[in-house]
Amino acid sequence: MSTIRNGEVSFWSRSAGMRPRNAPIPDSRQDLLIVGAGLTGLWAAYIAAREHPEWSITVIDAKHVGYGASGRNGGWMSTLLPGNRAVYAKRATSAGEDGGEAIRSFQKAVTRSIDEALDIMKKEGIDAGQVQGGNLHVAQTPAGLTRLKRRHETDLRYGYEPDEISFLSASETRERINVDGALGSLHYEHTAAVNPALMVSGLADAVERLGVRICEHTEAARVEKGTVSTARGALHATTVFVCVEASTGKIESSLPGFGSRELIPVNSSMIITEPLPDGVWKQIGWENRDCLMDAAHTFIYAQRTVDGRIAIGGRGNPYFFGSRLAGDGEVDTRTVHSLMKKLAHLFPGQELPIAHVWRGSIGVTRDWCAGLFFDRESRVGVVRGFAGHGVSSTLLAAKTLLERAEGRETELTRLPWNDHAAKKWEPEPIRWVGVHAMYRLFAVADAWEERTGSTQTSLLARFGSRLAGLHE
Ligand SMILES: Cc1cc2nc3c(=O)[nH]c(=O)nc-3n(C[C@H](O)[C@H](O)[C@H](O)COP(=O)(O)OP(=O)(O)OC[C@H]3O[C@@H](n4cnc5c(N)ncnc54)[C@H](O)[C@@H]3O)c2cc1C
Repeated sequence: MSTIRNGEVSFWSRSAGMRPRNAPIPDSRQDLLIVGAGLTGLWAAYIAAREHPEWSITVIDAKHVGYGASGRNGGWMSTLLPGNRAVYAKRATSAGEDGGEAIRSFQKAVTRSIDEALDIMKKEGIDAGQVQGGNLHVAQTPAGLTRLKRRHETDLRYGYEPDEISFLSASETRERINVDGALGSLHYEHTAAVNPALMVSGLADAVERLGVRICEHTEAARVEKGTVSTARGALHATTVFVCVEASTGKIESSLPGFGSRELIPVNSSMIITEPLPDGVWKQIGWENRDCLMDAAHTFIYAQRTVDGRIAIGGRGNPYFFGSRLAGDGEVDTRTVHSLMKKLAHLFPGQELPIAHVWRGSIGVTRDWCAGLFFDRESRVGVVRGFAGHGVSSTLLAAKTLLERAEGRETELTRLPWNDHAAKKWEPEPIRWVGVHAMYRLFAVADAWEERTGSTQTSLLARFGSRLAGLHE
C-alpha cells in the first residue's frame, strides 16, 4: 500500500489542480453573503448572480472551493432524494397535505435538477467528464433482489415514471456491467456521472465570471442577523446563506437549522484504481459509464471514470467520536481493505491496482432527511443533511433558498424539506455506540443473507433500519 496516495482531500481534487481564489474580504455590506464554497453555496451564488446582476455577492470558505463533500464525492448526479420518503410523506400528511403527492413533486424536482445542472454546465463550458448513462442498482443475493423488486414498486408510487426505471434480468445486467453473481438489477435512466472536483471548480469559475467574489481561508465562527463573524473580521450582509453541510453544527447561531446535535458528520470513504487496461474492460463491460450501486445493507457506490478507472465508495469506519470531521480525508487501513474487498467481490479475478484513497463527511440528521430553513426576520438561510445525496439536490436547495429569500411562495418552497427539523441526535457516547452498532448490524445482516441465500431481508437489518430511521 506504500505507493497509494491517502487523503490530500481526494483524487479528484488533487488531479483537478484547484487554483486559489483569494479575493480580499469585502469591507462594505453585501446583498448576499454565502458561507461555504461547495455545490450548494456556488449554485446559490450562480443563480443569484444571474437573476440579480445588481447584487453584491460574496462566497467565503474556511478552506477552499470543493474542500468539503462536493470535491470528494462519488460523482453520482442521481435522482435519489436527500432523505427518507416515508418521513417526508408523513410530515406532509400531518400538515394536512397529500403526503404521496408531496413526494412525487419532490422526486420530479430532483430529477429535473439533473437536466438543469447538465444544461448549466454545457452553457458555462464546464467539462467534468459528465455522461448521462443512468445508474445500475445490482443485487448479488436473493434477499437483495427481493429488496430491488420492492424498491421498484415504491419508486413508481413515489413519483418515478415507468419509463425512468427498468428491471433487468441477470443476463441483461451482466451485459451492461459484468458484476459477479448478479441476479438482477434496476436501471435508472436519468443519473449522470461526473468528476466532482472539475464540476465544483468549473462552477466556481462561472460564478467568478458573473462578478461574485470568492474568499477562501475565511472561516465563519458565528452567524446572526446581518453579520458573519470570522477570524478575519466581521462581514455584513442583508441576506446570509449558510451552506456548510457536515460542519453546520460547528457554527454558533441562535437561528433555526443550527445546533450541535442537529446533524452529525458520517464518513464516506472512497478508493480509485489506476487506469485499467483494455483487457480488463473487455471482461467487465461498463461501456455506458452507468453509475453502479449494490443492494447490500453496507452498500457501495461506484463509477467508471473518463480515463478508465473504477472509483468506488462505501462507509468503512462510519463515525468519529464527538462528531469529528474527516479533515484532509486520510483513511485507515481497515476501511481501505474493506473497500478493496467489496471491489474484488464485484469483479473477482481482475487485477485492480489502487491509486488513491480518501474520505469525506456527509451531513446526517437523526431521521436522515435534509432540512432547508430561511428565517424571514434575520434573513439567514441554511440547508443541511443531504445524507450523501447532494450532487443534484444541491441545485434544487440553492434555488429554493433563493426563492424563499425573495419572499416567493412557489412549488419549490412547498416541497417537504422546507423547515423540516428532525429530533436531535443523542449525546455522546450513546451517539457513537448507536451509529457503530447500526453499521455492525448491517454487516452481520449482509453476511447472513449471503451465507443462507434467503430471499428475505435479515431481521437484524430490519431492526437496524428502524432504529436508524432508514426504513421506508
Ligand atoms: C465520499 C463521499 C461520496 C459522496 N458521493 C455522493 C454521490 O455520489 N452522489 C451524491 O449525490 N452525493 C454524494 N455525496 C454527498 C455530496 O457530495 C454532498 O451532499 C454535497 O456535495 C454537499 O454539498 P454542500 O455544498 O452542501 O457541502 P460541502 O461540499 O461539504 O461544502 C461545504 C463547504 O463549507 C466549507 N465550510 C465548512 N465550515 C465552514 C465555516 N465555518 N466557514 C466557512 N466555510 C466552511 C467547507 O470547507 C466546504 O467547502 C458524497 C459525499 C462524500 C463525502
